[in-house]
Amino acid sequence: MNVLPSNEPTFRQSVDLMFNRAVALMDLPPGLEEKIRVCNATYTVRFGVRLRGKIETFTGYRSVHSEHMEPVKGGIRYAVAVNQDEVEALAALMTYKCALVEAPFGGSKGGLRIDPTQYEEHELELITRRFAYELCKRDLIHPSQNVPAPDMGTGEREMAWIADQYARMNTTDINSRACVTGKPLNAGGIAGRVEATGRGVQYALREFFRHPEDVAAAGLSGGLAGKRVIVQGLGNVGYHAARFLSEEDGALITGIIERDGALYDPKGLDVEAVKDWMMRHGGLADYPDATHTRDGGAVLTEECDILVPAALEGVINLTNAHNVKAKLIIEAANGPITAGADDILRARGTVIIPDLFANAGGVTVSYFEWVKNLSHIRFGRMQRRQEEARHQLVVDELARLDAALGDTWNLDPAFKARYLRGADELELVRSGLDDTMRTAYQSMREIWHGRDDVTDLRTAGFIVAIDRVSKSYKAKGL
Ligand code: NAD
Repeated sequence: MNVLPSNEPTFRQSVDLMFNRAVALMDLPPGLEEKIRVCNATYTVRFGVRLRGKIETFTGYRSVHSEHMEPVKGGIRYAVAVNQDEVEALAALMTYKCALVEAPFGGSKGGLRIDPTQYEEHELELITRRFAYELCKRDLIHPSQNVPAPDMGTGEREMAWIADQYARMNTTDINSRACVTGKPLNAGGIAGRVEATGRGVQYALREFFRHPEDVAAAGLSGGLAGKRVIVQGLGNVGYHAARFLSEEDGALITGIIERDGALYDPKGLDVEAVKDWMMRHGGLADYPDATHTRDGGAVLTEECDILVPAALEGVINLTNAHNVKAKLIIEAANGPITAGADDILRARGTVIIPDLFANAGGVTVSYFEWVKNLSHIRFGRMQRRQEEARHQLVVDELARLDAALGDTWNLDPAFKARYLRGADELELVRSGLDDTMRTAYQSMREIWHGRDDVTDLRTAGFIVAIDRVSKSYKAKGL
């Protein structure tokens, strides 16, 4: 569990301070600022489950930050540190995140105070179903009201249980599968959801590196290839981001920080091999091909180009912000940098790609999954073969040209195979995600570079998001 120094604001206060910094530069109607900032409602539930011969009581939360658009959306986290302040902070971030990437949702978040590693699978199923029952009863899980997704400590398995629980309680709801996203493919999920948040981190970095001016602002140059990257958290988000950045963009993953310490290798770690070791041994210790240090936190301040905190909030705070050497930090986790640390890093010229943008890949693909569930058809099913038939016409024409021109020009068989293939669901999802990340980044950078009073991407992102939320409220007559 991460314990912040006592002189630091809580996670929710930190998000509010960042919000305040942005609204101070905006011209909102009186009172609207307060309406947007506050969390609309937080439901706390305590429920009992009979396990191992006795009743165990669990505490869970579902917080709704803003209903300017419905349904509201946000993950469900399983962790011992879950508390009301945390879910409210995360729900607020969801509001701004959805607005920034133009996913038509309000913000919500849920959590269950539990250490999932202490329970057998069938026990976790009982607990999850009971928690889902409590939330369904109050429409806090509902296709048109409130749609959860995975977060820390949860994944496809839990989402499948939740979807099934909702369906059992709403037997005539034809849209029941849209009550939760992040489900396995065979239970109404969408291709590419598991990798989506890490994939989004990769697309965000690629877009950043397309703008030499932005790269220079971080004191870097060139592209992603060869950049030294330290990742904290090799879970869903961190693992996928690290894998894609190293395998597809040539970045060097020089450090990986986990619960039991960190691995460091200036020549670059093999992400797949480290993940495999971690799955088999429960941690990073004794990994044979790199140096292991028990003090994982110390590796956050090691020399590197890009730091990717992808575990939990508050890890870069007043105690270590001064020592962070990365020139660029991308917040793959929610809230990894406290408001105080953010001040220190900005003053030192560190460029921060903020959470509300950086990890929005998850909710973006969740949005695609929700649309897929409501339309009851897989993306690409109607047009794929038709697209292939049209491409075949072009290839046939080119083949005719090839024959007519003899040896002066030949149709490349590789081109033919690539061009002929219509896009499947995974390709469409990745393309939609890439477009979303690029567009959102551009909307932030326009404000970052276009206004003298905005000097960082986080404030720019908040301004874009708050402006959109405020327009929704105004349109509703509020
Ligand atoms: P996860 O549970 O899959 O992985 C978290 C990883 O962090 C685990 O490997 C865990 O061992 C490690 N970890 C925990 N405490 C640590 C510590 N003190 N030091 C180092 N490592 C530690 O969770 P996730 O889904 O990858 O989520 C990670 C972060 O990304 C969270 O902040 C979450 O809110 C955010 N996020 C997740 C998604 C998603 O789609 N899963 C979407 C948006 C944002």
